[in-house]
Amino acid sequence: MDKKTSKQIPIGGIIDKPKTSLLNKTGDWKKMRPVIDESKCIHCAKCVLSCPENCIAIKKDGKRGDVNLDFCKGCGICAKECPVGAITMVEDK
Ligand code: SF4
Ligand code: SF4
Repeated sequence: MDKKTSKQIPIGGIIDKPKTSLLNKTGDWKKMRPVIDESKCIHCAKCVLSCPENCIAIKKDGKRGDVNLDFCKGCGICAKECPVGAITMVEDK
């Protein structure tokens, strides 16, 4: 990616190309990752709401979707918040 000079940066530092953060796979450095036991999940969406990276999807039918591991940082909050213990943190190899 070409670096901009100070004269090329938009006035006010506004973001002229939105969504570029999607190119930064912030989940690269995680040590742990969540594994969801579908047989235990009651689709309460508590993990979706508690994930600080917003990387657990919610589907159109209101059910919990998959974890986007490209952006999951392995913090384990979802596993702590799950009321039925459906999420286990495992080593990310
Ligand atoms: S481990 Fe953390 S970042 Fe990853 S899905 Fe759970 S709450 Fe989100
Ligand atoms: S918090 Fe647990 S039970 Fe609720 S949607 Fe997430 S995995 Fe399923």
